[in-house]
Amino acid sequence: MPHTLNSPDKMKGFWFLLALVAVAKAEKSFTGDQVIRVDVQSEEQLKLLQILESEGKWNLDFWLHPVSTELPVDVLVPHTHLTAVKEYLQAHNIPFTVMIDNLQELLDQEKAEMKENHLRERSTRSFNFGAYHRLETIYSWMDTFVAQHSNLVTKLDIGRSYENRPMYVLKFSTGGTKRPAIWIDLGIHSREWVSQATGVWTANKIATDYGTDASLTSLLNTMDIYMLIVANPDGYVVTHTNNRMWRKTRSKNSGYACLGVDPNRNWNAGFGGPGASSYPCSESYHGPSAHSEIEVKNMVNLIQSHGNFKSFISVHSYSQLLMYPYGYTCRGAPHQAELVRNVALK
Ligand SMILES: [Zn+2]
Repeated sequence: MPHTLNSPDKMKGFWFLLALVAVAKAEKSFTGDQVIRVDVQSEEQLKLLQILESEGKWNLDFWLHPVSTELPVDVLVPHTHLTAVKEYLQAHNIPFTVMIDNLQELLDQEKAEMKENHLRERSTRSFNFGAYHRLETIYSWMDTFVAQHSNLVTKLDIGRSYENRPMYVLKFSTGGTKRPAIWIDLGIHSREWVSQATGVWTANKIATDYGTDASLTSLLNTMDIYMLIVANPDGYVVTHTNNRMWRKTRSKNSGYACLGVDPNRNWNAGFGGPGASSYPCSESYHGPSAHSEIEVKNMVNLIQSHGNFKSFISVHSYSQLLMYPYGYTCRGAPHQAELVRNVALK
C-alpha cells in the first residue's frame, strides 16, 4: 500500500532497494583499462603467457591468444592490474606496446555514434546497414526483411536461448526440399558486434543480388543458405546493457559466481582440447560437456535433422584471420589442398 512508504524505516528500505537495482543495472566501466600487444620472442615466453591465461591470473582477457611465437598476443588488462602485468613482462624480458590506452574512451565514442545513428534512423525512417543495432531492432528488421522478400527468405525459429530468447535462422531458398545447404552463423561471441552487423548486411545483399548477380543466382538455384545472425542472443543483450565485453553464454556454472560458457569451445569436436579452458571463469571455458549450451544444441539439432549441409561458416571479428579446419589439432583436414587453393584465390 503506498501510504506505508511514509514511515521512515520503510522509506529507507525503499531507497536501499532502489540503490540495489541501480548497482545491478550499472554498466561495467573499462576506464583506464588497456589493451597491450605482447611480442612473444621464445617458446618459454609463450608458455608463461599460456599459463597466465589458463590460470585466469589478473583477470586478463586475451583478444589474441598465445598460440605461436610468430603471432602477437593482444590482452585487455584491467587498470587495477596494469602495474603488476607490466612488471611481470619486463621481469621476463617480454616486449610489449600499449595499443589502446583507455578502452572506455573508445566505448564512449561507439555509444555516441550509435545514439546519433538511432536518431537519424528515427527521423528518416530508414534502417542503416552500416550501424550496430540492438537485438530487438535486428529481430524486427528480420520481419520486415522476410515480408519484403517472401519469395526467397523465410524465418525459422530454432529454439530458445538459456534466458528464453528466440533464436532465428534466415533461410534463403528458391525451392526444392532439403537441397544441399550452406550454414552461416554470426555473433556466437556476443561482443564481436561487427559479425552480427555483417550478417544483417549480407542477408540484405543476398536478397537484393539474387536475379542480377550471376554466381549468387546460380548458387541459390541449386543450394539453400541458412544464416543465424545472432547465435548468442543473451550475450548480445548483455553487451548492450551491462558489459560491452561480454563474450560467453549466460548459463550458471555450479560452484562459481561467474556465468557462461564459450559457446565456440562447446562443440563436440576436439572438446576440451587445446585452446579451451576448464576453468569456468575463463573467457574460453568449454563448459561441463559438449553441447551443454542450449544455443549450441539448437544449432546442432537443426543441422543434424536437416542432414544435407555441405559447408559451415562461422563469422567472428578481431585478428584478421581466415581459418579453416582443424582448429584443435595440427593434423590436416581431408580437403586441405582444396581449402588452401580457395583461400589463396581470394
Ligand atoms: Zn569470436
